[in-house]
Amino acid sequence: MSLAIYRKKRKFTKTPEPEGAVAGKGKNRFVVQEHHASHLHWDLRLELDGVLKSWAVPKGIPAKAGIKHLAVQVEDHPVEYINFHGVIPEGQYGAGRVLIWDKGTFKLLERTPKAIKVILKGKKLKGTFVLFKFQPKNWFLFKTK
Ligand code: MN
Repeated sequence: MSLAIYRKKRKFTKTPEPEGAVAGKGKNRFVVQEHHASHLHWDLRLELDGVLKSWAVPKGIPAKAGIKHLAVQVEDHPVEYINFHGVIPEGQYGAGRVLIWDKGTFKLLERTPKAIKVILKGKKLKGTFVLFKFQPKNWFLFKTK
């Protein structure tokens, strides 16, 4: 795993975001950040492989089973990003306010190259969620019963 793409996109002298490092064995944490960038979206991040595997979800996390939302995979983020909230300055990558919308832990039920199934245990999000890959960067995110 590498944070090369993450680092290449950012200037750490100008953004408050963490530079971070690839971590060891994780604690199965997740975060959803509400990101008021040029287009409002929610970033779902799962602690896997010493990084935060990350998806931008334009419509947010579906609250009910049976609703599929597009989740676009983005570059891996450092685990330190799990606590990040603040304002990314204008002119920087992802400029805008970032709020922590929910955080917690997850139980990994299944992981294949095309599917990740987890039980999320957050303050808002509880239950089983599936990420299903249908194009190289495009996944569906949905809740199951
Ligand atoms: Mn974002």
